[in-house]
Amino acid sequence: MIQITMPLNFLGTVYREIRQALVDMGEMFDLLDQPPDVRDTPGAPALQVKGGTVDLDRVSFGYDPARPILRDVSLRIGAGETVAIVGPSGSGKSTIGRLLFRFYDVTGGALRIDGQDVRDVTLSSLHGAIGVVPQDTVLFNDTIAYNIAYGREGASRAEVEAAARAARIHDFILSLPEGYDTAVGERGLKLSGGEKQRVGIARTLLKNPPILLLDEATSALDTQTEQSIQDELRAAGEGRTVLTIAHRLSTVVDADRIVVLEAGRIIEEGTHAALLARGGKYAAMWSRQRATSDEV
Ligand code: ATP
Repeated sequence: MIQITMPLNFLGTVYREIRQALVDMGEMFDLLDQPPDVRDTPGAPALQVKGGTVDLDRVSFGYDPARPILRDVSLRIGAGETVAIVGPSGSGKSTIGRLLFRFYDVTGGALRIDGQDVRDVTLSSLHGAIGVVPQDTVLFNDTIAYNIAYGREGASRAEVEAAARAARIHDFILSLPEGYDTAVGERGLKLSGGEKQRVGIARTLLKNPPILLLDEATSALDTQTEQSIQDELRAAGEGRTVLTIAHRLSTVVDADRIVVLEAGRIIEEGTHAALLARGGKYAAMWSRQRATSDEV
């Protein structure tokens, strides 16, 4: 019996891991229908995270060799640092996230975490070290407790509640007809955009990864909800290395560093204040966005 159940358990774990990775990344990067053709090298060791320094070392990449998307990008995100990537649509921001998660391999240069090339470590250890808060959290047709516990297999109810508290969704959950046992998802209670995002944050907090990859929501949340989600995300990033892919500038003001990407190259880098003072592309994007938001 043991001989049969052991491999089945193992397969179950592998399946969960793959599904988790796809769920994490799916909405973020539209990859559910695109399985990665990237594999562990035989005998690859697990990633050993010390501080969580992420290093892009002259990274080049193109989905199609004839069309480079990232060109010679060098970027070091120190342990515990928060870096936001901004830039026009199509400049390659999300592509950096996909490479970090190793959905694709770089075509030139290297991407390292604490000095280890992501191609040389197991994918499961890499995925275990990176928490993704996607634009739109995918909910399963199950209880809200299950949906949060998905962040870490075997999490206790107390741990689920602690994560929900930290994501400030605990009180909302208690107000539901069956509390944590309320069914959500397509066939259950529909959650709002902000509530779903909080479930995503709680899931990630439960996973407790040293590195966070945030894909800022482009979907419209009301200003107050957005502000409070930003607060939760900022708190979630405490003590972690954070890479934010930002589609709006209002949310990157507090980042330790902002990197401006254009046509796959880093064209400016600095704090919000430094970039404004420089009067370059970022400053122009900022005043353009201010002008648009003032009109609304
Ligand atoms: P946005 O702010 O609009 O999300 P982005 O800066 O995140 O844009 P990416 O998603 O990184 O941009 O895309 C960069 C370029 O790569 C785009 O021109 C896009 O069309 C192309 N691209 C993205 N995914 C793929 C893919 N799977 N296959 C081929 N090309 C792709």
